[in-house]
Order: sequence, then C-alpha cells, then structure tokens
Amino acid sequence: MNAMKKQLQELLDIPSPIGYTKEATAYLKDKCQELGLDITSLNKGGFYATIAGKAKNALLINAHVDTLGAMVRELKSNGRIKLVALGGMPWGGVEGENLKIHTRSGKVYGGTLMPIKSSVHVHGNKVREELREPDSVEVRLDEFCSSKDDLVKLGINVGDFVSFDPRTRMLDNGFIKSRYLDDKSCCVLLLALAKKIKEEGVTPRKTIHLFFSNYEELGHGLYAIPQDVDESISVDIGCVGEGQTASEHKVTILAKDGKTPYDYDLISELVNLAEKNQIPYNIDAIENYGSDTSAALSQGKDMRFACLGPGVESTHHYERTHEDALQATLDLLYHYSI
Ligand SMILES: [Zn+2]
Repeated sequence: MNAMKKQLQELLDIPSPIGYTKEATAYLKDKCQELGLDITSLNKGGFYATIAGKAKNALLINAHVDTLGAMVRELKSNGRIKLVALGGMPWGGVEGENLKIHTRSGKVYGGTLMPIKSSVHVHGNKVREELREPDSVEVRLDEFCSSKDDLVKLGINVGDFVSFDPRTRMLDNGFIKSRYLDDKSCCVLLLALAKKIKEEGVTPRKTIHLFFSNYEELGHGLYAIPQDVDESISVDIGCVGEGQTASEHKVTILAKDGKTPYDYDLISELVNLAEKNQIPYNIDAIENYGSDTSAALSQGKDMRFACLGPGVESTHHYERTHEDALQATLDLLYHYSI
C-alpha cells in the first residue's frame, strides 16, 4: 500500500487536464516499462501495456489519466483571465484554488481562481448570491499585471492549459484527500495489479491489456481497442453520496450508469468473486456518470463490459477516499485476472 500511495502522490503531482496529459502518460509508461510490460503507444497519446495470459482472447482493463481542468478563453483588459472549463467541472468546486497556467512556450505561471465579486467588504451580499459561472469567475495571476498587454508580454495566450492544485493529503488513518483521485487512483491500481501478478509469479487466465486512456472526461478515451479483446472493464471511481450505495471502504461494482446497464453475467461473476474472497463491495447504479467502457460501446465492438472502482466522496470536487477502497479494488481485479 505504501508503494502505491507513493506512486499516487507522484502522479497527482503531475498536472494532466484533458488534452494536456503527455507528462503524466510518460510517467505511467515508465512504470509499465519498469515492470517489463509490452507497450503499444497510440496516435491519440494514450497507450496500453500487455501482460501475456493463458488464453488468446484478452481482457482490457482501463483507467484514465486525464482530469478536469480549464483553458485560457480570454485575456481581459484589466489583466485578469477568463477560462473555459474542460469536462464537467463545477466552478464552485475550484473557488479560491491555486492553479497553474501552462503556456505553449513552456512557461508556467501561478494564480488563483477567484469569483469576480469575492470580497464581502467590497461587494456585500453579492458575494453570497452570485452563481459561480464562467462569466463570474476569473484568474488572479501571481504577477504584476493590470492590462491585456501585461498578459501578452508574459507570453500567456488563449488556448493555454490550466491545471488546479490537487492539494493531496494522505492521512495516518488511511484517508486520502485530493482532487483527481478520479481517476489517478485507478491508474495507480492498474500498476499495482501488474506488479502483484509479476510478484506472485502467476500467469493470468487470459491476456490482459492495461489501457491508460487520456480523453475519458470528454467521452472519447477508449479508442484503438485491440482485436483480441472480448471483455472490457473500466476502473473508475464509485460515487459516495446521498442515494448511492458506494463507500470509501469498498469497491463499487456498477450495475448501470447514465448510458447503459452493464453486462449482467460479468457483473454477477464479479459479485460472486467478491463474496467468495470476502472483498468489501457494493453494487451501485448512477445516472450522471459514464465510463470509458460504456462510451466505447458505440464503436460496435462485441465484448462483455463492466465498470468498478474505489468509492470516492465529493467527486469532481475536493475528493476523498480511503486505503480500504483501493485495497478492495485491487483485490477484486487480481482475483478476476488469475
Ligand atoms: Zn473518471
């Protein structure tokens, strides 16, 4: 668990808003190479790493390295910056958060996402009443700048990517608080699965492709599915909250998301495995949710499909999970693989 947490911290420290995932993908590729896995790099920037199995047909297991983030939309005349969100990011979820602007020439500038009406002393009740929307929030840059020209001189331009501070905290009692546990916690779980298979010296019952996707948050992450795949499992977060069964101490097995019910037999097999091996789990159905696998079904590939993952609280906000959920997810993936 400690090695996995160290990798999680390292991966969370690498910004990877959707569309700007090169460095985080390179990190994962390095780790797969260290494990001696065969890598297939893809034109769209993702990759998959293959573990040979007994049967020729293959199981695809995927997690996504892209996260929510933003892009520079407009350089304002007062030296502030307007952003456009990447993915389903609520602006209230990043209010007051520190951020980085990554310019095309490689410079990185710090700043903070602020409501335009932020000071109670200046704006009174409007601070409480205003919705947090693209037009009501802006970047306060940590630089001397009070005009559009100042921003241009710094080399900031429309189209530059913006990443938010994940503010990761790993607590002694096992809780992990951070932005982007969705889905970096699961990327690290895939590495842990490959490591465990290697260390135990077992050959998986079928070939496994570990697919690290990079456009999940916009619904086109799982592309170039290898020909031999007849089952696809997305490892993505379970969502803890009112009306859901998910828990920060369990692996969530999804029976349905906003697009489709998942494969009945495959879900039943996963549930039976969890029961047999005393892995804490829950079955959940969730509406405002899609996975790489459910999005990929429109490609018409004939395969069984599932989605499972650690229960995470306050998803797409300042998220939290517990080591228990990571362990349960790893255990279920391992038992299904061998
Ligand atoms: Zn996700």
